[in-house]
Amino acid sequence: MSKQNDDFFKNVIAHAKEYGFVFPSSEIYDGLSAVYDYGQLGAELKNNLKQYWWKSMVHLHENIVGIDSAIFMHPTIWKASGHVDGFNDPMIDNKDSKKRYRADQLIEDQITRYLNDGKQTEAEQLQADLDQALADDDLGRLKTIIEDQHIVCPVSGTKNWTEVRQFNLMFPTQMGASAEDADTVYLRPETAQGIFVNFLNVQKSGRMKVPFGIAQIGKAFRNEVIARQFIMRMREFEQMELQFFVRPGTELEWYEKWKETRLKWHIALNGDAARYRFHEHAKLAHYANAAVDIEYDFPFGFREVEGIHSRTDFDLAQHQKFSGKKMQYFDPEVNKNYVPYVVETSVGLDRLFLTVLCNAFEEQDLSTEDKKDSRSVLRFHPAVAPIKAAILPLTRKDGLPDKAREILDILRIDYNVQYDEKDSIGKRYRRQDAIGTPFCITVDYQSLDDNTVTIRHRDSMDQERLAIAELEQMIRERTGWKTLLG
Ligand code: ATP
Repeated sequence: MSKQNDDFFKNVIAHAKEYGFVFPSSEIYDGLSAVYDYGQLGAELKNNLKQYWWKSMVHLHENIVGIDSAIFMHPTIWKASGHVDGFNDPMIDNKDSKKRYRADQLIEDQITRYLNDGKQTEAEQLQADLDQALADDDLGRLKTIIEDQHIVCPVSGTKNWTEVRQFNLMFPTQMGASAEDADTVYLRPETAQGIFVNFLNVQKSGRMKVPFGIAQIGKAFRNEVIARQFIMRMREFEQMELQFFVRPGTELEWYEKWKETRLKWHIALNGDAARYRFHEHAKLAHYANAAVDIEYDFPFGFREVEGIHSRTDFDLAQHQKFSGKKMQYFDPEVNKNYVPYVVETSVGLDRLFLTVLCNAFEEQDLSTEDKKDSRSVLRFHPAVAPIKAAILPLTRKDGLPDKAREILDILRIDYNVQYDEKDSIGKRYRRQDAIGTPFCITVDYQSLDDNTVTIRHRDSMDQERLAIAELEQMIRERTGWKTLLG
């Protein structure tokens, strides 16, 4: 089945729920819009993706360290960063359906329709108009484009639109014991600022020399005007960000370097280079002098999974201005003090998770002339698979479960392995295929005699015989981090 359609995506979402990867939040209360929970296998997969990022960015770079800053931060930080005044999306309401939309997304949908109808020229012209209106922050122009293009509300089918207004995406909340003296603080909309305000702490305590990086994984919150496409756009999500501090004037070299490094990282994980592309930004954010997205070909088309920005000295200079504290570095090589420039790489963990799910999911027809058969399989890279191996006694008697549990005890300290004795062996194999377990280890009567087991491979479904004494090494060689990072 092609990965480029709605049915495929619906099946991915249904599969993720059925097997304990992702659940709608607060489901028994009919859910909470654009918020999701990760289930027992989703949490494992997510943890493995975090580890893949942390190992490759922090442990494998001598000049990068990782921190974990608080979600609540001093409210002035969001003034300095520009979020209080500028972290807005242009929104528009339809007066008949009372539905709210992002004005730019309504226009992007129209561009997609042109492309689907083969109207390349119209699509390009409209894209240029949209880019210009966004670059000029011209809300009136966005409204005019929507009217000129005869864009209707998908729910009411009418063109009865309000004016386009700016909507701030930050979630405010109160901090303090009593309402009178409570301060307004924000749930952070990005993890980056927690890194910038700790720049000096880390540089000094870690004796870091430019160029160096600070990495962080953590939750971020955005009150998205409209959230859709499953875990693609959520109101609570997780980011994995690197801020890499460099000498001014060298930032574009580092930007190019990180672009290539990050693209390779994604391709190593999902294995399919054709599903990725770069998208250079037409409209640069106020803080950037170069910006690119790494896009993945989701079932609904190419969309951003990671952003790479050359942020100049904007953030550190702003914090210097607002806090009154010097955010400078003395560079002994050039014998000068300066505010470092920054190259940022920022990947959404949930979107990354979605690339991995979409990439791995396959429904295979295994029918032969005599028998109809099929299987659902998640072909995860073994290093990130939630469960590395399942240990399956052929029957529940004659000492086979005891032998299987001996193997479980050998492997479980270093690897997430699962014991399963319910149902026929064929059904158990299929269950493990459906959750992406790369190896099934079957303990049978021969195992009691000669201490060997059958290894059944998820992708090829081939089987081979292996000594129990060699199992640990096999699992290490086939699922260890070296298979992805070596
Ligand atoms: P978009 O244009 O899709 O709104 P963005 O350009 O605002 O994304 P950044 O601010 O660059 O995103 O954030 C970096 C990364 O964080 C994105 O590449 C994406 O993977 C992730 N991300 C941003 N917003 C969300 C969200 N609402 N839900 C899930 N992930 C998100």
